[in-house]
Amino acid sequence: MAAKFLVRYGEIALKGRNRGEFEQQLHRNLKGAVGDFEAEVDRMHGRFMVSGPEAGREAMQERLSRVFGVVSVSPVWEEALDFEKIKTRAKEIFAQFANQSSSFKVQSRRANKHFPYNSPEISQLLGGHLLEEYPLLQVDLHQPDIILSVEIGYKSAYLYLDKIAGPGGLPVGITGKSLLLLSGGMDSPVAGWLAMKRGLALEAVHFHSFPFTSRHSSDKAIELGKILARYGGKIPLHMINVADIQKILRQDCPPEMGVILLRRMMYRLAQLVCEKRHLQAIVTGENLGQVASQTLESIDVISKATSMLVIRPLVSFDKDEIITIARNIDSFDISALPYEDCCTLFLPRSPVTKPRHAVVEQLEKRLDIPAMLDQALQTAELHVVKR
Ligand code: ATP
Ligand code: MG
Repeated sequence: MAAKFLVRYGEIALKGRNRGEFEQQLHRNLKGAVGDFEAEVDRMHGRFMVSGPEAGREAMQERLSRVFGVVSVSPVWEEALDFEKIKTRAKEIFAQFANQSSSFKVQSRRANKHFPYNSPEISQLLGGHLLEEYPLLQVDLHQPDIILSVEIGYKSAYLYLDKIAGPGGLPVGITGKSLLLLSGGMDSPVAGWLAMKRGLALEAVHFHSFPFTSRHSSDKAIELGKILARYGGKIPLHMINVADIQKILRQDCPPEMGVILLRRMMYRLAQLVCEKRHLQAIVTGENLGQVASQTLESIDVISKATSMLVIRPLVSFDKDEIITIARNIDSFDISALPYEDCCTLFLPRSPVTKPRHAVVEQLEKRLDIPAMLDQALQTAELHVVKR
């Protein structure tokens, strides 16, 4: 027997032309999510029906419920469009899943108007039948122990008990492509997840400082990339070594400016990656007020190093809100592992918190920035990270 799932998506906000695009992108993403099970994904009156091997049931359910754009997923029993057969199936389902004295209700949705009964009739008749079969059951329309749902489609009827929440949002890829600056910290994976939630496909870049930092920090970025890939499909992750840039900054610039200058170099490198890979925006985990480099003045001066659109999904989040999401998406444990970030490596005792753009530009005049960028890009390695 095949494992079948009814996949629902948000319809309310979708109108006209957008709807078709949304459905096509979601269709592709669903196929991508369960493709290695050779599952079939079919469009069906405002829902998708996914059908794959029984052995992949659990994994498929988990993956489908992580696809952005999906509102909920139900494992279903498929039955012929024959009311007697639907009744028998309902009876079997209750034999297996209901207590003798459960309270229950039946709810129905009839997409196929040729079916002889309308939705209220289906619910009533089926409820009556179940009460006859199991006299100790009780109907409770408000807080039942069990809800049996029935959907009448054009080819089959579907019965289900469970509804697993999906993440909502928009299908990844529908709003464009972006580059996530992925550190090993708590914030950037959450920022990437939120960007994907709004339909942005992600590539990621991680800056490391090998041999000043160990391979650990890069491994963390890869592990976090795998988490994000569960939601967005495979993620190209660019690893760029900024050790030489840091050496030069340390030699030639005041230490309290180090973090600002390094961040500006990161933004420039990110822009070059975006241009090469045709990505339309940079996404970061910056959050107003968290640390010295995240005052309004710092963020402003850092952003001025790039002409790219920079999206900061976390700018107004409290730390505990970020942590809640990190726990939900399973990035928390990886982010919480100790690591050396290249930015903390040469952290001075008192970094500037209110840098001035003119001063920064003056300092940068001493540097051969194109050569520094070129050298760093030479070190770039591309890993394609999969779930
Ligand atoms: P995170 O938890 O994401 O590291 P944070 O609160 O520690 O964020 P910062 O260290 O100031 O804040 O970094 C701000 C943002 O800059 C990060 O969220 C990330 O997007 C980017 N960033 C910082 N370090 C790196 C790095 N080594 N590689 C790639 N991006 C980085
Ligand atoms: Mg950090």
